[in-house]
Amino acid sequence: QNVKNVMRKTVQSDIFISVKTTKSNRNSRLDLLMETWIPLAKDETYIFTDNDSPIPENVHADHFINTFCADSHYRQGLCCKMAREYDIFMESKKRWFCHVDDDNYVNVPALVGFLQQYNHSDNWYLGRPSISHPMEVLDRANPGQKLAFWFATGGAGFCISRGLADKMVPHAGGGRIQTTGDAIRLPDDCTVGYIINHLLKVPLTKIKEFHSHLEGLHRIPQHQLSDQLTLSYFNSNVIDVKGYSHEKDPTRFKTVHCHLYPYLSQCVDMPRW
Ligand code: UDP
Ligand code: MN
Repeated sequence: QNVKNVMRKTVQSDIFISVKTTKSNRNSRLDLLMETWIPLAKDETYIFTDNDSPIPENVHADHFINTFCADSHYRQGLCCKMAREYDIFMESKKRWFCHVDDDNYVNVPALVGFLQQYNHSDNWYLGRPSISHPMEVLDRANPGQKLAFWFATGGAGFCISRGLADKMVPHAGGGRIQTTGDAIRLPDDCTVGYIINHLLKVPLTKIKEFHSHLEGLHRIPQHQLSDQLTLSYFNSNVIDVKGYSHEKDPTRFKTVHCHLYPYLSQCVDMPRW
């Protein structure tokens, strides 16, 4: 029975998808995710915000978490949220912890198929670095020296296996992501990289199918959209895809969604060509 359980193929319900958001992004960002990919992963998605606002329709009440973290884009508020995301994942017993921002589109079936290739019991840190070299910081333990480590940019989304998440407990458990972040004075995603790559010596596996708005998103070919795991947007840096007008769908997320699921009733009005 045990062996069978270990060998069981990863399915969607094995994934914990945490979305980091903030009070003021409720209408401008979260609603768009509610109209696109989140309903396809309703049971797996946990939304971490910083205020008591009404639970969105179609979200489980206990999946909409007020962290009471500061609603600021400063290190403390962000590390505080990441600490809560990690702690609630640890309680969930799921195989994979995948973090995304509220300006990320998640290609849910592609993510499931992708994670099926990796053993969740091993140490996996899967994501996309935002810089082409390791992050360098002053080593506070050894004055005058530097230390370098890789981190996956939070704005592209990243996934951590259960095996690795368990190893992170001494540095991350019980809110310690925040203490660690305070000690090295780095943002949340850097802090995660510091713990995994510097303290635990587990490498970052670079996955080109995770995308943030720090890259040129128009470069992703339309015929490869279904292979991508995450997408993002920022002003005019958006996915180049034909469908709804840019007035109706400035982020292109609705268009991407209707390319992936053309049979959805919400997609009948998308112009075909
Ligand atoms: N965010 C937050 N608190 C804030 C501002 C932003 O939790 O005060 C979250 C936001 O919801 C998003 C992430 O941090 O998930 C990144 O924010 P944004 O996309 O605005 O900035 P970026 O870092 O991509 O430039
Ligand atoms: Mn962003």
